[in-house]
Formats: sequence, C-alpha cells, structure tokens
Amino acid sequence: MVEGIQSPAQVTYWLMTGRSLFVVLNLLGLACFFYIVSKRMTPLIRGERDWRFDRPLVRLERVLQFWLGQWKHPRYRTAGIMHILFFAGFIILATQAFSLLILGIAGNFVLPGSSGEIGHIYDIVKDYAATIVFLCMIVAAVRRIVFKPARYAVPARYGKGHPVDAIFLLALIALLMASESLFEASKAAFQTQQGQPVEFLAALSLPWMLKNVLISTPLPTLQTLHLGAYFVDVLTFYFLLCYRPFGIQFHVETSLFNVYFAKLDRGTVKPVRWGVTDEHLDQVKSFGVKTFEDFTWKHMLDFYSCADCGRCSEQCPANAVGRPLSPRFITIKARDYSFQHYPMFGSAGNGTPLIGGIYSEDEIWSCTTCGACEEECPLLIQYIDKIVDLRRGMVDDGNVPQSLQKPLKALESRGNPYGKMEKKRAEWTKSKEFSQTCAVKTVDGKSNADTLYFVDSITSYDDRMQSIGRATARILDAAGVNFGILGAAEKDSGHDARRFGEETLFMALRDHNVDAIKASGVQHIVTSDPHAYNALKHDYKDVPPVEHISQVICREVKSGNLKLDPVENADSVYAYHDPCYLGRHNQVYDDPRDVLDAIPGLKRVEMDRCRDRSFCCGGGGLMLFYEPKEDQRMGVKRVQMAAEAGANVIVTACPFCMVNIEDAIKVAGLEGKMTAIDLAELVDKQLVRPAPAQLGHDKLTSDVLA
Ligand code: SF4
Ligand code: SF4
Repeated sequence: MVEGIQSPAQVTYWLMTGRSLFVVLNLLGLACFFYIVSKRMTPLIRGERDWRFDRPLVRLERVLQFWLGQWKHPRYRTAGIMHILFFAGFIILATQAFSLLILGIAGNFVLPGSSGEIGHIYDIVKDYAATIVFLCMIVAAVRRIVFKPARYAVPARYGKGHPVDAIFLLALIALLMASESLFEASKAAFQTQQGQPVEFLAALSLPWMLKNVLISTPLPTLQTLHLGAYFVDVLTFYFLLCYRPFGIQFHVETSLFNVYFAKLDRGTVKPVRWGVTDEHLDQVKSFGVKTFEDFTWKHMLDFYSCADCGRCSEQCPANAVGRPLSPRFITIKARDYSFQHYPMFGSAGNGTPLIGGIYSEDEIWSCTTCGACEEECPLLIQYIDKIVDLRRGMVDDGNVPQSLQKPLKALESRGNPYGKMEKKRAEWTKSKEFSQTCAVKTVDGKSNADTLYFVDSITSYDDRMQSIGRATARILDAAGVNFGILGAAEKDSGHDARRFGEETLFMALRDHNVDAIKASGVQHIVTSDPHAYNALKHDYKDVPPVEHISQVICREVKSGNLKLDPVENADSVYAYHDPCYLGRHNQVYDDPRDVLDAIPGLKRVEMDRCRDRSFCCGGGGLMLFYEPKEDQRMGVKRVQMAAEAGANVIVTACPFCMVNIEDAIKVAGLEGKMTAIDLAELVDKQLVRPAPAQLGHDKLTSDVLA
C-alpha cells in the first residue's frame, strides 16, 4: 500500500501527539497576543472621550475606500503599488493562514465552502498571492537597504531610526510566505513521487517552483521538510502576531479601526471636551492636552496606527522649511512614550507633562494647520486636532509666545488683532473714488440687503488688503447682489484664535458675530477670506449659508451674468495658489481655476504642488504674528515653485496668502519679475462693465489699476 505524507496533526512529537501540541501552541499564541493587546489598550481606556460612533454607513464606506481600497496609497506610486499588492496578498492569505492553523489540530480540515471549483480558484489565487507578497518583501527590503528613500530617514534631533527592525519584520513576513509555500511544495513533490493525486499548484508560483526543486528529494526528507515548514509557519505566525504591537507593524491590527473611527468632517476642530457643551466649559478643570492621558482614545489609536511611512512629514511645509516640526514624529514620540509608560509588566507610569517632555513649545506653535499631513496620510491620521489641543493646554497654563500676546489681547479688547478702533472697521468703503462707484450699505436688520459680505479683520484694516474688499464689493455690485456689511458690528471671525488654542476668546468673538448676523436679517453670507469662510461654515452654528467669493464669481461667470475682458498682457503666465482653508479644508479647487480659464487669453500653468497637495504660503491669522525658527520662509519656497512652473503672476484667493506671497516675492529677489494678485482683484480688473455714461459715473477706478 502506498503511504501518503503525514500531516502535522498525525505525528507524535516528543511524546506528545501533534494535535495536542498544536492545540497548546495555538492557545499560547492567542493568549500572548490578547495579553499584549490588552496592555496596549490600557492608555486608550484612560484617555479622554471621543465621539466616533455616528454615521456608521459613511464610516463603512470610508473603510471600503481607504482601508480595503487603499485609496491614498497610489499618491506615492512605487511604494503605493507595492503596498496595495501586499495588502491584497495579506487579505487573500488570511483564510489560508487560518486553515493552516486548524490543520495542526484537524489533519483533514478543509474550510467550509472552499472545496470544488471555488477551492480550486482560491488555490490558484493564494499561490500567486504568496509569491507576490514574498517578492514585495524582497523589493521593500532592497529599497530600504540600497535606495533609502529620504522620507524614511530620521533627523538627528528626533533620535535614531529603526531600519533593522523594519527589515527584520520584512524578513519575517517573507519567511512566513516561504514556509507556507514549502509546506505545500513538499507535499506535492511527495504525492508526485508516490503516484498519488497531486495537489494543484499554480504555475510559476513560489510553491510550484519549490515543488520542482524538490521533485527528486527522498521521501523521508520531504516528510521532514513538510513538518518542519509547518512548525516554522506556526511559530513565525504567532511571533509576528505578538511582535507587531511593539512597533510600526501594529498598524496591521489597528488600521481597520483607525479608518472606521477617523474624523469625518473637514475644516472642523474638536471640542475642548467631547460631551461638554460650551455653557458647561467653565466646569472643565483644565483645557487641552497637557499629559499623554489628556489625548482622546482615538488620538492614541492614531499613534498606534502610524506606519512610519513619512508621507505626512514629506508634505509638511513646516518641516520643508526647517521649522522644528515634523508631524510623523509627533506620532512616533507619543507612541514611544506610550510604550515606555505602559509597559507589558508592572504598572503604568504617571502622566508627565508632554511640553518640555517629548514636545517643545516651538514644535507645537510651528504648525500652520494647513492640513497637508492629514491629506496625505493613507491611514487617515489626524494632526490638527492634536496640535490645537496641545496649544489649548499651553494657553491654559499661560504659556503663549511673546509675539502672540499683543494680538490676542487686541482681539479680546477690540475684536481685531491689530488693536484698531471698531468704528474704523468700515473705513475701506469710504475712499472717495470707491464710494462714487460702489455704495456699500451697513446691514442692521432695517436695511433690505439679503446678503452679508463678511469682511473680517485683515481685509478691513490692512491698507493693501482693503483692495480685495473693494474688488469684492464691486463684483457683488456688478453681479446685482443686494449686499451689505456689518461694519463696526463685525468682529474678527476668531478662526485662528481657535486654532491657536484660545477657545474662550474664539467663543466670545463667535457669539458676538452670530448675534450681529442674526440681527442683520440676511439670508446669505459671502466672504473673500477663506479663514472666515471656514469659521462661518464649520465653527459657527445657526448662521445663513456661506460662500467664498470665488464660488459666487464662478457661478455668475458661468451663467453669463458677469463677463470678463481678455488679459492685456499676453506674456503673463498665471499660476493659481490654493489657499489651505479654501482648498484642502473645503475642497474648493475648481471654481477659482474655472474663473481664471474664463478670462480670454489668460495663460495658466499648474505648480507641481497644487490642489490637495498645495504648499502652504506660511499661514494666516495669528501665524502672521508668530516668528518661528526656520531656514527659509514658506512663502519664498512657494514663490520659487511658481517660478519653476513658468509663471510670473501668482493668483490667490486669500488676503493672508497675499501678505505672505507679496512679502516672499521681495525676499526672493523676484520683484519686477513676479507679481501676486487676488482672484477678486483680477476679476474686478477684467470685468466688462456698462459704459460710464450708462452708470452715470464720470470715472471708474479699480484699486488694482490705481
Ligand atoms: S497641518 Fe500643515 S504645518 Fe501642521 S503638521 Fe500638518 S502639514 Fe505640517
Ligand atoms: S502619520 Fe500617516 S503619513 Fe505620517 S508617517 Fe504615519 S502613516 Fe505615514
């Protein structure tokens, strides 16, 4: 009688039956894993609340898109495709891994539903999957050892990298694939030699190749290889399972949950404490994050889920100009802290202050809240909420940079960061030439304006930016919009006060503005400031719908209500710079571009970093008052990007971008070669207007032309 190959369950090892041995091994492996994970979960249980249980269908859809569909990975083509391949391989091989573990206990185990045609197809797919994952591990190791992509590097100030750890993990996964393949190949070679029905192996797959190598190997050796491969496979599987929670590979376990519970609403900032209303905030003992345990459980889950791929930091403008901030290390340092203070054995350490401990003050103030890091992260890890929370903690301790103290005081006392008089807020409407061509009324509930132009502080008070205000007003007027402003009743939107951690100041500004807006009786709001737009849209409640002026212009141009003259200078090449709070945070990318493309004869180029990868110009709001340590200004880098794209005019749609870019043009020595203009100014300049006689005006003057 021809003897078949013995399965791992049938063999007796050291006086123990295979079945009993593998029951013990499986139980031990699982017990270790659950013990380790329970230890890792301890800080999450101690962490602050976070409400992530709403909109389950939306969350499931995002899991399908970002986790299963690996949506963001191809943004980095080579690494992304490799990740998609080995992720798909892992998903396919998960069933195989489960079947193999059971096989040690029940020798003839076949997963229900996996026999017949379906099983045959699965066998082919899994053989190729194991081969692809094996090859991907080799390519990934070669990339790390030979090519060393810059984004994996660890700058000296952040400690040391862990390349050996990364390669060790890649080697373990490759070993898992090899042992699984050898297990099958040795069995197939055995069956071939014995003339038994041979298990199908997909041609050119790793198991198929190994089978061909082993085809003449003596039967006892094949039997040993079969059992040895099984042992290695089971031990490697459980070692990997238990080792992953000690490093970056923990994301294999946590990423699904991290994506499911990811933040859903763009442009928003988390409340000071989930579950505590504004009215009860005075009962909160301490604001913001001061110790690790002040982070919410979801923010801690973020720390565990980071794959250390470095994409966030590579896109971070603060990191690019040498500010002491690299978002990746915000996570890595917190994760290291958690591992250290919540050890596997012994009790957890007491919360020590994070600022001055693992983070520096400058690091946390350096962020412009541009959102590039969050846009890039394939695992939807958030940074802005954490940074705002850390700032709230510092503000709560009275720890605010010197240069920010004056504007913050002025915001409190005068409602604008410049300390200017409230009654001067509408001065920009009063210049003779402007008021002759465009009458701007103040909405007060008695006026019959249906649209509010929310101007905000910089456009109201800054001499240069007032031009944007006047251009906006003229455009609204030309479009026939019945609009007005709040004038002295308007205060700063508070957008950046909130993002600088001054929550109570923000609330006071918001409440004042909401009352004024409600009293005005308007049904729509328009603004030319993306920061005000973001605040009104996301931070304010119970106010009429808001639009950015670029959206209004786009609609009016497309409907034919506004017509635009051709550009005068055919040599000008325009590049549009996406303001972070219009683009990334609110997804308004096309409207400003459509407006530019509607200007006859306008030549437009795109910078390499555009749309959702736009490079922040240096930040707006209070960031204008902060002087970070940096090697180069972000604005200068941005202006250079425009020059490299072949542009000589940068168009933006934000007064803060205008400050930074105009300043950067001077610093970069590009005066005379490069200019900057706001979209509203450009449209105002190109507007086809009725002849002056029809208007009854002697002269129409544009600030831009003046
Ligand atoms: S929000 Fe912008 S500046 Fe802040 S860490 Fe992220 S990429 Fe860097
Ligand atoms: S936070 Fe996201 S993008 Fe940044 S290193 Fe971690 S996984 Fe990569």
